[in-house]
Amino acid sequence: MNFIQITDCCYYFHGAVNIGYIKSGQKGMLIDAGIDKGTMKKIVKILKEHEMFVTHLFVTHAHADHYGGAAYLQETENIYTYAPYLESAILRNPILEPLYLFQGNSPLPEMRNKFLEGKPIVVDEEVKEGTYHFGETQFECIALPGHSMNQLGLLINGVLYAADSYFSEEQLHKHKIPFIIDAKDTLNSLNGLKNIDCIGAVPGHGIYETAFQKTVDTNIMYHNTILESILNLINNQNETGITHEDLVSQVCKTWAVNLNNVSMWMLFRTAITAYVTFLVKEEKVKLFIDDNKLCFKKIEIKY
Ligand SMILES: [Zn+2]
Repeated sequence: MNFIQITDCCYYFHGAVNIGYIKSGQKGMLIDAGIDKGTMKKIVKILKEHEMFVTHLFVTHAHADHYGGAAYLQETENIYTYAPYLESAILRNPILEPLYLFQGNSPLPEMRNKFLEGKPIVVDEEVKEGTYHFGETQFECIALPGHSMNQLGLLINGVLYAADSYFSEEQLHKHKIPFIIDAKDTLNSLNGLKNIDCIGAVPGHGIYETAFQKTVDTNIMYHNTILESILNLINNQNETGITHEDLVSQVCKTWAVNLNNVSMWMLFRTAITAYVTFLVKEEKVKLFIDDNKLCFKKIEIKY
């Protein structure tokens, strides 16, 4: 894990999941907490070696790879924790994530793993879009929904910590179908990122870039390509349409995604449902129930 300095006070730990760090005199704030205790132990050790402090934590969104290490941090250090409202409900009650991924059913034991459910944490302050302070440092919270319901990015000292609002090109190709819960929010957040006045951005997964707008454009194009492929798939069905289950299976096949466990299936089903829901809301495809099955079909254009 590399500890990288961006400006006087802005840093980040570059790893599978990036963790931001803001130095403010005798205070210090981590942005996200990594997936587990092991990751957080390493972070605290590196900070201590640099004689830097950690007094605050900001959790950008309630996904276990971003907050799984927070419980250990809160147990071992005196930490004041910020999190976006709504996301905080999940941080306090982490079973909510496997619960919602399983359509509100009590989750299967194998879904209760560290990738979907971290330990519960304390949230001292629920935040929303706007300006906040910690120590002498001012930071701005920017709403970046789409990847999660109420994800917030942070703008501090000209550096944008963008959470999972966009992914590096490498990550997009690795995941093939990125995790989103709302395609319209995702696209709006991406377009909004390009208008933020900053010197560069750190995504949740990837590297700090000054010309990050190019990567954001790649993300926009990537999401649009997925939307187009799903629209074509539905338009190519006959009038009986396609069931939700078959749609998930066929979209995975198109993007060479091979799902071999329930957790992964839940995540991809959620993302694919987000894309098709966008098409339904835009009145590009029709959602209906047939023979007790959720189905989608093309919208006939009448002349
Ligand atoms: Zn995430």
